[in-house]
Amino acid sequence: MSETDSRPDLLGMTPGELDTRLSQHMAGRGEPDYRVSQVRRWIYEHLAASFHEMTNLPVEERTALDEAFRITEPEPDTVSRSSDGTVKHLWKMDDGELIESVLIPTSDRLTLCLSSQAGCPMACTFCATGWGGFARQLTAGEIVAQYRSSLRWARDHDYGSITNVVFMGMGEPLANRKAVHPALTVLNSGFELGARRITVSTVGVVPGIRELAARPEQFGLALSLHSPEEALRAELIPLEKRHPLPELMDAVKAFRREGGRRVTFEYTMIRHINDAERLAPKLAQLARDVQAFVNLIPFNPIPYQDWQPSRPERVEHFRRVLDTAGVSVAVREPRGRDIDAACGQLRANALVELKAGR
Ligand code: SF4
Repeated sequence: MSETDSRPDLLGMTPGELDTRLSQHMAGRGEPDYRVSQVRRWIYEHLAASFHEMTNLPVEERTALDEAFRITEPEPDTVSRSSDGTVKHLWKMDDGELIESVLIPTSDRLTLCLSSQAGCPMACTFCATGWGGFARQLTAGEIVAQYRSSLRWARDHDYGSITNVVFMGMGEPLANRKAVHPALTVLNSGFELGARRITVSTVGVVPGIRELAARPEQFGLALSLHSPEEALRAELIPLEKRHPLPELMDAVKAFRREGGRRVTFEYTMIRHINDAERLAPKLAQLARDVQAFVNLIPFNPIPYQDWQPSRPERVEHFRRVLDTAGVSVAVREPRGRDIDAACGQLRANALVELKAGR
């Protein structure tokens, strides 16, 4: 967001707020109320990048809208396309901050991975974004803008429509709830993306999990677990010290109790770090307690750490232990390795190059 631009951002408003603000604006100009739904359709359906594209409105009304409001529209800085079809956008915000979003096509869905912060303050040791540090919170409009711009790109490049959204890009979404809550509402009731198709990923911000549980919509929750033991988890995720596993599991149980909500555990498998055989049954127990689906993800190497992914036979061992315990489990290969599509990787690479004076 530009510091000098004080116009309210239509993308950051919930559909209800947007209607109210536009109704007031149109009434003030003596314009009929149907103009509100015209603008609304341009925003949510036609994905207009500016008011000047709203060609069924009189030119003077487009100008008046542009004077009163803005529509956040990030500039694509880099677009990288992987051999597996994954597409990574690096977006430049008004103040020059760079954030990432990733489109991940599979046979039956197109998933968009969104960022919620520029950088991240959580400092998880296995994560390129954490290593890169925290720049600032994103606004609700900047989060929604990633969706709109990615959807426009997908439509223009025969990728079809976005079917699922995951908040798994840069940042900890539940540490930016002021923006993430309205953004969830906009995606769900503005763009009509089903709540069960939207997943918020967290490393364990307990108050945020409880807030999400209190919402009426059935958004999904993905918990970055990465260890079923507190001491080891604290080495990987500093937030564990503030919200230890027992407290975290209580919050996840509360979330799960709100009928029909999906909980996924993400478990990045790092060789000799968190893949000891003793950990598999402990992971299975935690997953069973909250009926979580478990994703086992072989570690994607990052620029500043010499950690390696777990060996395939160890990943298979974990999968078997979980499966035998009755836990639903899948092994996920990181997508877009050739374009550094893992969380925060492009930005981290840029920082490594900067530090090396390249
Ligand atoms: S894993 Fe998530 S919460 Fe942790 S540093 Fe990376 S982006 Fe932040």
